[in-house]
Amino acid sequence: MKTSNSENLFKRALTLLPGGVDSPVRAFKSVGGTPLFMKEGKGSHIKDEDGNEYIDHCMSWGPLIFGHADTDVIEAVRNTALSGTSFGTPHRYEVELAELVISMVPSIEKVRFVSSGTEATMSAIRLARGFTEKDKIIKLDGCYHGHADFLLVSAGSGLATFGTPDSAGVTQGNAKDTLVVPYNDLEALGAVLEREKGYVAALILEPVPCNYGLILPLDEYLRGVRELCDKYGVVLIFDEVITGFRLAKGGAQEYFGVTPDLTTLGKILGGGLPVGAYGGRKDIMAKIAPDGPVYQAGTLSGNPLAMAAGIATMKKLNSKNFYSELSAKGKMFNDKISPVIKKFSSSVQFRCIESIFCLYFTGNNNLTTVNEIRKCNMKLFGAFHSAMLSRGIYLSPSGYEVGFLSSAHSSKDIDRTVAAIAESLEEIL
Ligand SMILES: *Cc1c(COP(=O)(O)O)cnc(C)c1O
Repeated sequence: MKTSNSENLFKRALTLLPGGVDSPVRAFKSVGGTPLFMKEGKGSHIKDEDGNEYIDHCMSWGPLIFGHADTDVIEAVRNTALSGTSFGTPHRYEVELAELVISMVPSIEKVRFVSSGTEATMSAIRLARGFTEKDKIIKLDGCYHGHADFLLVSAGSGLATFGTPDSAGVTQGNAKDTLVVPYNDLEALGAVLEREKGYVAALILEPVPCNYGLILPLDEYLRGVRELCDKYGVVLIFDEVITGFRLAKGGAQEYFGVTPDLTTLGKILGGGLPVGAYGGRKDIMAKIAPDGPVYQAGTLSGNPLAMAAGIATMKKLNSKNFYSELSAKGKMFNDKISPVIKKFSSSVQFRCIESIFCLYFTGNNNLTTVNEIRKCNMKLFGAFHSAMLSRGIYLSPSGYEVGFLSSAHSSKDIDRTVAAIAESLEEIL
């Protein structure tokens, strides 16, 4: 496989950008090798600067639910751009996208558009604090919510301790108001809420954690979280930046039938352009400026190009049978991969939900918290990643990341991916 063009670009990038990238996982540090510079994509396929072609399962980390360069999304962006890219005034498309989002996501009565998932979660937490006039927040171990200081916090030693900074530059002060509790453990959560009664503004979680491998909620877990938040008067925030418009039209909240107070969105919402949003109960959203005292603003918020891409995306998601067809693809993948995984079950596990999947290099089949995922063999994942690349399959370059199917993946793509997984496992194990 020729990769000299990517290698040369990366050499240049290394002298100009920290680590040669604008987002750390892209640097291939955890899988080894040179990051591939992608040049073009169409549907389920991408092509790099050396002309190598791959079936893509990274899909820009989730946004591309129709695959690359979707005709309708591109058309909407192109037409909008011809009339100007930004006005800094209200725009018709903000209203149209808001109507679509509110009609699709059960918990959302009002919505504010921002430019990234990070901005959405950061703002939702500020809003919850402003609404409740309380300081502390609860985060669940292994959930990722972007890189705001008070969310870059991990569990200290012991159960449900005060958080400790998870990045240099995050102060103890920032970390101290974030309590970290294990996912899938209602007892631990109840104990912390009781101990901190009257001090907790919000609990934020990914209803299905997708950023530390894929962790599925145990039966009744999300319902239990909802009940505890009600009991203690805590604002429940579902971070649906990945699961929103992915598990179902209304996200995980529709899929599991549990309604949060606030929801954060991103990724699919922008159809591949930079968009985030937070929304929810009217009485809470009324606290945001200019209606209320919680400040939050953005020069490019509600940007017409991004809104146009979002509208085109939402319209397509509303088309008949979209989710049942995507779901059938996920099931087909699961059915075809199962015998392969079974054969290697002493070293590999597989989980999926709808069009999200993950492979774990461990013999342990009990994967309900991040503690088990931390023990997975990431060296083996690196070897697996290279073996898959050489077979023309592009996976996210980290064993902690999930893979995606899009509506553009054909059954032939799925067959090729399954065959490549079987061969790669045979090769490396
Ligand atoms: C990607 C992601 C974010 C951060 O979104 P950015 O657009 O990268 O800032 C937040 N929460 C979840 C669950 C995500 O997957």
